[in-house]
Amino acid sequence: MSRYWSELVRQLEPYVPGEQPKIDGLIKLNTNESPYPPSPKVHDVLSGDAIDRLRLYPDPNSSRLKQTIADYYRLKPENTFVGNGSDEVLAFAFMAFFKQNKPLLFPDITYSFYPVYCQLFGIEAQRLPLTDDLRIELDQYSTENGGIIFPNPNAPTGRALPLEDIEALLKRNTDSVVLVDEAYVDFGAESAAQLVDRYPNLLVTQTLSKSRSLAGLRLGFALGAPELIDALDRVKNSFNSYPVDRLAEAAAVVALEDDAYFQQCRDKIIATREWTNEQLTALGFRVLPSAANFLFARPPEGVDAAELAQQLREARILVRYFNKPRIEGFLRITIGNDEEMNRLIETLGALIK
Ligand SMILES: *Cc1c(COP(=O)(O)O)cnc(C)c1O
Repeated sequence: MSRYWSELVRQLEPYVPGEQPKIDGLIKLNTNESPYPPSPKVHDVLSGDAIDRLRLYPDPNSSRLKQTIADYYRLKPENTFVGNGSDEVLAFAFMAFFKQNKPLLFPDITYSFYPVYCQLFGIEAQRLPLTDDLRIELDQYSTENGGIIFPNPNAPTGRALPLEDIEALLKRNTDSVVLVDEAYVDFGAESAAQLVDRYPNLLVTQTLSKSRSLAGLRLGFALGAPELIDALDRVKNSFNSYPVDRLAEAAAVVALEDDAYFQQCRDKIIATREWTNEQLTALGFRVLPSAANFLFARPPEGVDAAELAQQLREARILVRYFNKPRIEGFLRITIGNDEEMNRLIETLGALIK
């Protein structure tokens, strides 16, 4: 704290990302990164010419990348927006759509960046409780609001909503923007991207951080009606004309084009997730059904989740523990490769006995 700080900065409670420790030989299952490298095509576009061209500013509209995303989802470039990670795209959306004099609705247990953005931008937050089995109940989202946001699948529970529920919400809630944060959609949920043409208040965000193994690149995007995309552009062009650098655009284009590689990695992660789920269940964990690249699991009776996370850390395995009401009994475990998950299960088996 310093006397030079603004009142706003004094009040902020910033988001705390999962640890990125610099310890060798660590099994890192705490921030939902992919255990597999990005598409090999990324190597080819990040050398030689690409480096020489770094003296030039990038395309402020990222036209090639927008066209690639539009082709992928059978939409138009006017339906797409790209930014420096989906966290940035979300920030722009909060400014563009949710800064209203009505509250923003979101689940009580969800991605913890949402309340942080509400504080930063002066948006009233109204949290709606998940059911006892930690599901989002969209029927509850029927009060007056200045917007609605939720991840599908939700984080950190991993539970997915069926597309019919989201469409029913869009039919009821036509006076404000509904933002579906699809950071994990590729691992088992149905994307709302196909609804963009029919619902002018639907905004879908996605990221290359998880299912495309490019968390370090910082590339996220949004899909929506052209009027919504225009609003995001107005915010972006009032903030930073070049949020996507040349290397990020080039790598993102080839990563999205390499669909075969993407599917192969995704399928492996899903298979490993199902195996891990069975193993954890056999050890007495209660595991929520997951459509994401992580599992949300409650250790067996008599085992404290926080302590178990600490013991795993001592065994050089990092998982995520949230010291928050309702979920303080759970661990969130990112799906690594088979060898890493084997080590996790062996270590847990030894710790629990
Ligand atoms: C990881 C994550 C993001 C942010 O992804 P980036 O593109 O890396 O900024 C957004 N929403 C949810 C729910 C996430 O888990």
